[in-house]
Amino acid sequence: MSLFSSVKEALTAEPSAKSRPDDGSEGAYWCDDCDVRVRDVDLEGEATCPDCGEEMRFERSSGRSCAC
Ligand SMILES: [Zn+2]
Repeated sequence: MSLFSSVKEALTAEPSAKSRPDDGSEGAYWCDDCDVRVRDVDLEGEATCPDCGEEMRFERSSGRSCAC
């Protein structure tokens, strides 16, 4: 009885605890040419690469959760 409840607790508690950062970040912007990464919470203004000035690609950090 107690073993079952502790296992169930571990299964339900793990995913949300690991996949969600607590600073409000939803992902990061990438420049494929320079391999530069800027988190969305660190970005000020336009999503452009600090190295080459090209527009960066947004990548959502969804962890292990499904996209649908
Ligand atoms: Zn770049």
